[in-house]
Amino acid sequence: MADTTLSPDAPATELPATDLPGGQTVTAVKHWSDQLFSFRLTRPASLRFRSGEFVMIGLMGENGRPLLRAYSIASPFWDEELEFYSIKVPDGPLTSRLQNIKIGDQVIVKTKPTGTLILDALLPGKRLFLISTGTGIAPFAALIRDPGVYEAYDQVILTHTCRKKEELAYGFDLVEQTKADPLVGEEATEKLLHYATTTREPSQYEGRITDLMRSGKVYEDLGTPPLTGDDRVMICGSMALNLDVKDICAAVGLDEGSVARPGQFVVEKSFVGDDTRLS
Ligand SMILES: Cc1cc2nc3c(=O)[nH]c(=O)nc-3n(C[C@H](O)[C@H](O)[C@H](O)COP(=O)(O)OP(=O)(O)OC[C@H]3O[C@@H](n4cnc5c(N)ncnc54)[C@H](O)[C@@H]3O)c2cc1C
Repeated sequence: MADTTLSPDAPATELPATDLPGGQTVTAVKHWSDQLFSFRLTRPASLRFRSGEFVMIGLMGENGRPLLRAYSIASPFWDEELEFYSIKVPDGPLTSRLQNIKIGDQVIVKTKPTGTLILDALLPGKRLFLISTGTGIAPFAALIRDPGVYEAYDQVILTHTCRKKEELAYGFDLVEQTKADPLVGEEATEKLLHYATTTREPSQYEGRITDLMRSGKVYEDLGTPPLTGDDRVMICGSMALNLDVKDICAAVGLDEGSVARPGQFVVEKSFVGDDTRLS
């Protein structure tokens, strides 16, 4: 049997793989910037989830207890593996260590998925707007690769706002991969629009998505009509973004839904904490 003794300061990457309860193996890691990375894990056989849900994942803490955080699953329900897209918080208890994972390491995955950003939480509608900032794009990375989205909607509009251009890279790659995907590529090419904006650096489209929705510029740029009561919206970002987009939805008569009571828009925080630090 493998030695399970860990020194208090043993880095996560040195944990004995076979002895991590609920541990899944890292199969790929990609660093997108000094603040963002994505990784793929083997999928627990018992994990069933709906595209857009989140689970608790983490590493063994130095006290011998799991250190877990909520993470949106960025891969669709049908994927054989699990994908996650993560921030690197410099002094963050989990991500200061998680950012060092390598292929073959283990990450703990709890198999109780939950969340409101699922198709079933919305009543039928014409277009689906997916509004994200930062790592809030993660649940939508799952949804835009779910064939059910294209069955349910005539058009899917994914918006992603970050401070800098380099923080948009995961989204651009995601949309390119989705349009080339054998399962959903054809429908995505026809129905998926991607609108990426920066707030602190020049890029093709600049500004907060809330301002661009209020002014109508996002609709002009995309060549699609403004948001109406026939559309459905999912929102995933900082608390401030979520509240602002909720107001925009309410202004066109959309009602908030939940898993228990489907509605016309749904919201989830992409992290808990001080909104001003990293978003
Ligand atoms: C429902 C839900 C889903 C989530 N999904 C993801 C996800 O898919 N990817 C992801 O990276 N994080 C996600 N988070 C945040 C995640 O749970 C952790 O907060 C994050 O991994 C940092 O963990 P930490 O222990 O290093 O620092 P923490 O102590 O958890 O956070 C320290 C501080 O860093 C800031 N922060 C934390 N996470 C973020 C973030 N994602 N973006 C900007 N600032 C942040 C906040 O100011 C926070 O107070 C989610 C949170 C919730 C509630």
